[in-house]
Amino acid sequence: MNPAKRRTVIAGNWKMNMTPAEAAALVRETAPLVAGKDNCDIIFCAPYVDIAAAQEAAKGTNIKIGAENVHFAEAGAYTGEISAKMLGACGVDYVIVGHSERRQYFGETDETVNLRTKAAIAAGMTVILCLGEVKEQRLAGITDEVVAMQTKLDLAGISAEELKQVIIAYEPVWAIGTGLTATPEQAEETCAVIRATLAKLYGEEVAETVTIQYGGSMNDKNAAELLAKPNVDGGLIGGASLKAAAFAAIVDAAQ
Ligand code: PEP
Repeated sequence: MNPAKRRTVIAGNWKMNMTPAEAAALVRETAPLVAGKDNCDIIFCAPYVDIAAAQEAAKGTNIKIGAENVHFAEAGAYTGEISAKMLGACGVDYVIVGHSERRQYFGETDETVNLRTKAAIAAGMTVILCLGEVKEQRLAGITDEVVAMQTKLDLAGISAEELKQVIIAYEPVWAIGTGLTATPEQAEETCAVIRATLAKLYGEEVAETVTIQYGGSMNDKNAAELLAKPNVDGGLIGGASLKAAAFAAIVDAAQ
């Protein structure tokens, strides 16, 4: 983390878990544990159907509620999708885009990730833009090239001004939901590659202001070591965000 230069952000990704009642209960359980922990932004990204209940439970707390995806079109024949305008109308300020599970199981590409990112930015939201290498790419020694390429493609046509509405989540795909975590050194090294790519695109000064989270089996045990690295500005947390105590411990590690 480098709080002098950029905001630390701890975000949960609930994935396809939680009924509205369960979502509200988790927010209510977490809220007192993270109250006053204002050195980072705290976000739960929830399934669409849980957003209203989670928002209601989060009222008056420092927890913000986001969504897990957004479509790029304003409206139309896209059965099952949700637009940025719809999310905005529901008071959603944060949205995950390009999660590896969307890329892997739902055919999302850097092109659609870029379009979704642009749509969310245009609607005034902050995007948590996920990217990262798969295991074969890390083993082949091409992680740096892969994340640099994703950064360039996913941010194509996005201005420095618009970049203020982007948080990048570096998520090595082999570490997501597997219990395998990147070492703090691996996380730092790759987040630094992403920042260097941002510097090439937008200049060093702008790149230094961008929050780059690490995601991939971050938990209450490993968070402090990961967050101690200067280019790791927070976490995107899946499994551990479903447990109030574990998530709150990660928020503690970011103080
Ligand atoms: C995620 O869903 O973005 C994630 C990092 O999951 P997990 O923490 O469970 O690996």
